[in-house]
Amino acid sequence: MFRYELHCHTREVSPCAHAGAEDVAKYYASRNYTGLFITDHFVTGRDIPYGLSWEGWIKKFGEGYEIAKKAGEKLNLKVFFGFEYTCLPHAGTDFLVYGLDGDWLLAHPEINTMPIRKGLEFLLCEGAFIVQAHPFRESSYIEMIRLLPRHVHGVEVINANRNNTENGAASAYADYYELYRLAGTDNHLGDKQKRFCGIDTGIEIEKPVDLRKIAESGKYTLFDETR
Ligand SMILES: [Zn+2]
Ligand SMILES: [Zn+2]
Repeated sequence: MFRYELHCHTREVSPCAHAGAEDVAKYYASRNYTGLFITDHFVTGRDIPYGLSWEGWIKKFGEGYEIAKKAGEKLNLKVFFGFEYTCLPHAGTDFLVYGLDGDWLLAHPEINTMPIRKGLEFLLCEGAFIVQAHPFRESSYIEMIRLLPRHVHGVEVINANRNNTENGAASAYADYYELYRLAGTDNHLGDKQKRFCGIDTGIEIEKPVDLRKIAESGKYTLFDETR
């Protein structure tokens, strides 16, 4: 059985994360995970951060993944690139995007100015596998719950940092719309995180887009553990 984390942040790239990419990789390796997706926040609809060029920003954006990947190579942990797409002004409506890499982002600066539906349609068209993260999250900064069931493949039905109401609603939503059910920790804390979620599967992921094959096969289970 192979165990994968599908939703994890690094301090290098996500301002809200507390754990560095190398420590994150070390922790998941120590828990015998097969692989880890680094899904740092990729926010569009705003000026490019730090006054960088698009090229400069995408390079910076890949840092957490690159560091974790390098650390993972020494630890027998596969580290994969993903990103958590948020299109402003729709803060809190977040999509985990798998299967498009840093080179893709580099070649497509137009994603930065696309409105949310157009952005998702473009990502889908380009071959991404898209999972809405914590769709029923409630927070003072989230203006409203927004759902785009025709623009995603799956739903994060267990997010380790959301409560039972939020996850329960996500689960009912996924079932009603027949969307793939996935789980992730949304780890911002590295080894300080207490609850972990993800998938166990008999299918090994060689490249990020394989996650889609696993979802389609149905040959996986979700896990939810408090350590
Ligand atoms: Zn965050
Ligand atoms: Zn996240």
